[in-house]
Amino acid sequence: MVHVIGGGLAGSEAAWQIASRGVPATLHEMRPVVRTAVHGTDRLAELVCSNSFRSDKLDNAVGLLKEELRLLDSLVMRCADATRVPAGAALAVDRQRFADEVTRSIESQSLITVVREEVRQLPESSDRAPVVIATGPLTSDALSKEIAALVGESHLSFYDAISPIVHADTVDRSRVFRASRWNRSLGSMERAGDGDYLNCPLSRDEYARFHDGLIHAECASVHDFDREKFFEGCLPIEVMAHRGPDTLRFGPMRPVGLVDPRTGRQPYAVVQLRQDDLAGDHLSLVGFQTQLKWGEQARVLRLIPALAQAEFVRFGMVHRNTYINAPAILLQTWRFRCRPSLLCAGQLSGVEGYVESTASGLIAGRNAAALARGRPLSAPPRTTAVGALGYYVSHADPLNYQPTNVTFGIIEPLEASEARGGSRLARNKALAERALAELRRWADGEPGEDRP
Ligand SMILES: Cc1cc2nc3c(=O)[nH]c(=O)nc-3n(C[C@H](O)[C@H](O)[C@H](O)COP(=O)(O)OP(=O)(O)OC[C@H]3O[C@@H](n4cnc5c(N)ncnc54)[C@H](O)[C@@H]3O)c2cc1C
Repeated sequence: MVHVIGGGLAGSEAAWQIASRGVPATLHEMRPVVRTAVHGTDRLAELVCSNSFRSDKLDNAVGLLKEELRLLDSLVMRCADATRVPAGAALAVDRQRFADEVTRSIESQSLITVVREEVRQLPESSDRAPVVIATGPLTSDALSKEIAALVGESHLSFYDAISPIVHADTVDRSRVFRASRWNRSLGSMERAGDGDYLNCPLSRDEYARFHDGLIHAECASVHDFDREKFFEGCLPIEVMAHRGPDTLRFGPMRPVGLVDPRTGRQPYAVVQLRQDDLAGDHLSLVGFQTQLKWGEQARVLRLIPALAQAEFVRFGMVHRNTYINAPAILLQTWRFRCRPSLLCAGQLSGVEGYVESTASGLIAGRNAAALARGRPLSAPPRTTAVGALGYYVSHADPLNYQPTNVTFGIIEPLEASEARGGSRLARNKALAERALAELRRWADGEPGEDRP
């Protein structure tokens, strides 16, 4: 029997992998008995912010990671593919249907027992009865204290912020154009060629007004808020705006690869809106996480011409993110160095993002099942995205460690003979082909490694 604590993306995936190997699992999820500041339902694998699992193309590292997860029979990927909505080259899902699908699958797997309770103390674990902790960025206070006691000073926390969502019918359609950047659309048939994003163009003057509004707007006061600890990939727009007048134009408001068909030109700046539910009546502002006060958000975001009359489904906000200093604490198989019958997965384990959290849950689940069955543990090779992630998390510099997204940079480089020409695209494709071939071999039973 394996106990899995936390029924988010990582914990659900881990429990599924364990049960798929014939080992019973108990999945402890505290919602709805104890709520978090951002989850809104009692569903397993609830996506608390964006509905996007990011790029779905193999020339992108997160696209490769997703393909690897599919190859390893990931429950999360199966449910995501089944509930996808149009989103250009990205995989985005209808969040409610996605979480329903994961919950239904877990609840109907007879080897998994779901217990709705807050785990306040780390359960006993042993080699034949391992425990997986996957309580995520909002790990409850009581359990956070337990983990801090186990890992010492290396247990850290910091803050991120989430993007607002608007009602689609309140967007001024005369001031938007539909397109995906560089025309990379994977959308539905009726949209093919048009792109999956609604783009709100801004002229130089409109952008200047918006920027000015942003830097003078009032932020929500955040208790214990530490600016220095924002994850660089998830900076609030107002923090970016304060860094300089053009920072946003090189970030979430960059216009490159987008041509406004009404002018035939690239706009000065653009805000992209992405469909957030299957019906298409909610649109999220891509990359627009913010900690402005809600009234200020409405006022400033309505300075974007297409959003002048926008009504908001949800405002952006600030949230806590708890994670361990993984390189000092974890092995490549996602086990704790100090207690190898304990495994960690998900955002808490020092990765960043839905797909990376799922990937760590999948490998931790496989290894927990191996432990319970008295089998050898295994980590995928570093030539794969999923293996490279485990290696990086357990071997990066523990000084100033920050949660990591998957990138091609952490995958073992190609041998000179494997590299095809100099272009990055060709190199990435070759890396992806090699990764998928090696992962197939590994999944078919090649021994892995658990180096200190
Ligand atoms: C506000 C916010 C916005 C985010 N936005 C994005 C985004 O847009 N894109 C992205 O890729 N990532 C985003 N993230 C990161 C996101 O949390 C992770 O990518 C992903 O959800 C992590 O999966 P997880 O399984 O580790 O954690 P979660 O999905 O949070 O699951 C952990 C589960 O553990 C439960 N739990 C906590 N403590 C206990 C306990 N003591 N006992 C029992 N159960 C417990 C929680 O209720 C939760 O269901 C965001 C995070 C937050 C907090």
